[in-house]
Amino acid sequence: MAFNNFLARRAGHASTSGAAAKASSLSVRQRLELLEVYEDADLGWFWATDAADAFTYLSPGAAKTLGGDEEFAGKAVGEVFDMQAAARDEAQRSLPFMLRARNSFNRFPVRILKAGPPVWWEISARPCYDAGGTFQGYRGSAKDITLDRLEKEEATRLVRFDVLTGLVNRRTITERLEQALILTRTQKRPCALIMLDLDRFKHINDTLGHQAGDALLLQVAQRLRQIVGDQGEIGRLGGDEFQILLPDCEDRGLLGSLAQRCIQIISQPYLVEGSRATVGASAGIAVAPFDGDGADALTAATDLALYAAKAAGRGQFRFYSSELKSDAELRREVEENLRDAIASDELTMFYQPIVDLRSNKVSCFEALLRWNRPHAGFISPAIFIPVAEDTGMIAELGRAALMQACRDAAAWPAHIKVAVNVSAIQFADDDFPLRVREALDESGLHPARLELEITESVFLGDVEVAEHMLRRLKKLGVRLALDDFGTGYSSLSYLSNAPYDKIKIDQSFVRGATAPDNNNRAILKAIIDLAGSLGMDTVAEGAEAHDELELVRSLGASHAQGFIYARAEAQADVLSRLAEGRDVYEPSGPAYFRADRMTVIRKVGVVHENHRYDAFMRNLSRTGARIEGLLDVPVGTQVVVDLGDGQLAVAVVRRSQEAELGVEFETPLVSDGAGGLCTRYRVSPYALHAASNAAIPLRHSDPADRGVTDAFAPHSKFVQVELNWSKYLK
Ligand code: C2E
Ligand code: MG
Ligand code: MG
Repeated sequence: MAFNNFLARRAGHASTSGAAAKASSLSVRQRLELLEVYEDADLGWFWATDAADAFTYLSPGAAKTLGGDEEFAGKAVGEVFDMQAAARDEAQRSLPFMLRARNSFNRFPVRILKAGPPVWWEISARPCYDAGGTFQGYRGSAKDITLDRLEKEEATRLVRFDVLTGLVNRRTITERLEQALILTRTQKRPCALIMLDLDRFKHINDTLGHQAGDALLLQVAQRLRQIVGDQGEIGRLGGDEFQILLPDCEDRGLLGSLAQRCIQIISQPYLVEGSRATVGASAGIAVAPFDGDGADALTAATDLALYAAKAAGRGQFRFYSSELKSDAELRREVEENLRDAIASDELTMFYQPIVDLRSNKVSCFEALLRWNRPHAGFISPAIFIPVAEDTGMIAELGRAALMQACRDAAAWPAHIKVAVNVSAIQFADDDFPLRVREALDESGLHPARLELEITESVFLGDVEVAEHMLRRLKKLGVRLALDDFGTGYSSLSYLSNAPYDKIKIDQSFVRGATAPDNNNRAILKAIIDLAGSLGMDTVAEGAEAHDELELVRSLGASHAQGFIYARAEAQADVLSRLAEGRDVYEPSGPAYFRADRMTVIRKVGVVHENHRYDAFMRNLSRTGARIEGLLDVPVGTQVVVDLGDGQLAVAVVRRSQEAELGVEFETPLVSDGAGGLCTRYRVSPYALHAASNAAIPLRHSDPADRGVTDAFAPHSKFVQVELNWSKYLK
């Protein structure tokens, strides 16, 4: 057999070195037998080449894996071993180099050139020379290490990737972020980070089980991959947190739409283990170097932005801004003070009318909690209700709110109802119907005058349990209203067998429905028609302008609630109004809805020819702003409006009257995700720093700096009028 020839030759060479023979007392014959046993057991293989690097021998077991002796016979080394793969893979000298240099090598990993799944060997060999010192070829051994390598690769994968979703894990994405930030610092290349967190994922885990939760996360990851594509890298940080790293990206228009798309697509229903499930998502966005140029700072900035998005009602994105810091502090403060506030009656109920669209008469008041903090003003329930939910205080708060609302309503004329918001946490409490009964008994309010507003989020968990609760509540004789309809979870078809008396269509459908190209109108019509055919009332929430009101009226909505009729009022005001018999609310508001106009009241800087003026912005739109504080600026003057945090908008004065300017921006602003606007690009802190050294008075993003008039004031062309900030800022 071939092996015998090979060993015979090998023995011949051994005699030239003599070392192996001396080291063993076995005869050549015995050693040959041992090697044969070793080779037959496929524990290891042998190979030999000639001076031209062509194979002259390969153990039968090894040859078989290459397709048999026939296939392999006479092949050159380069036709069997992948010379490049080995070099690429290991940080050592390449195989071709070692062969050319006639080096010995030991345990060198090499990929076998062969169709199918990759096969790796580890080869060792040394060159052989004849007595005259002429190279005769290599003699070597080999071993299949494919399995070992797979295990090693798997271990690396485990370290770098998230096992469940296959996305990179926290460690890897943080490394990539650090690498990207090096480029930010050294080459001034921006880099954006989006932090995404699923809303109510815990609920899915708790109600449908962890396996279902895992299945859902996997689908979320797949959806994210589709959206992000090769624009950036997605990582899963653990739990329901994802991060998207977008190198070389600073355009907030683009980032906002990407985040919005992620939120929208993630919020579509899932099928997990045969059940339909829905989650939402919130996103926080920060961009280096503007919001921080270290990994920790940038991550903390996205955290804060995400937190703000969640606090504002979830399902939204937010850009980081230095003001968010104070929001986070506010929330901490809320957490610390809410309990005392409940005890010391700082929380009161306000009532907003829900008006019958045929007669403009109030048919119901929605009870809305207000927290009037001494010295701090009103705190929105959108901020403190989530805190109350997280801390478990909602049970007590909800109970007190329900009781108060029923008591107050009992003092109104008997045809007017009261609507009370019920948190999903209250709703999940098995004793909730008892609490309702208590409030009715204690206040003497007729059950038919109490309407419970429930959002679709109560169906995120076990639908049957939720439906059972609805039936129990109905049995008490109270009315049920589905609040914020359309914001997420149930479909229109779901309404057909739901026991609601009223559907409240979310503000987001009403607001802007009259704008051209807005398909909310079609959605509104579908909801109103279906609800009407099922005998349910429909309330259009958040109507602010006359055209919106006319639209919902013409589409057949039965009721509307919104600032166009009234904001929420204190019980005393409601009582005195009703005592005078004034139960009709006349709509009053702007004639048309304008998507891009918003009232903002804040300080800005106006930079003109090296001088920065303090001014006051009263009105902001995508295309321009109304600014107060500079006297007699000629129309046509070019200025830069400093909106803070590196947001500089080049603008031209279009209107000017005394101290009031109307300016038009050169580049329209983009949505900031919070219902506000921001500039697409910002001036980097590096440039701001350079500008301040050059005495160009721009405002830094340091919050401590906010609103402080710059000390240096080069020659100013316009007169800055003294503004009484406190008048506006309270
Ligand atoms: P909601 O139940 O959807 O209440 C309607 C919200 O829309 C109220 O905000 C109301 O002031 C606002 N709104 C009404 N008309 C307009 C309009 O034309 N334009 C605009 N921009 N907004 C309008 P509010 O009072 O800040 O309450 C926010 C949310 O806090 C409520 O949303 C509700 O979910 C929650 N909430 C309020 N009070 C309670 C409560 O007693 N218990 C519970 N669980 N949640 C409450
Ligand atoms: Mg409500
Ligand atoms: Mg609502």
